[in-house]
Amino acid sequence: MNCPYCKSTITWVVSTWDFRGRIRRTRRCRICGRRFSTLESMTRNQLRPGRPVRRRPKISH
Ligand SMILES: [Zn+2]
Repeated sequence: MNCPYCKSTITWVVSTWDFRGRIRRTRRCRICGRRFSTLESMTRNQLRPGRPVRRRPKISH
């Protein structure tokens, strides 16, 4: 996520909360120190990260 002010890529998330099924994040830029909020839509997969899917390799003899 780039900073809209200085286009820096060094930002961190200050807070995250649910906003009508979307994720609203407040980020802070490390370069210019400004805060900006982003509204990100998320899918169910992102809602529940769960365990990584591991497939058992089929061993055929
Ligand atoms: Zn910035």
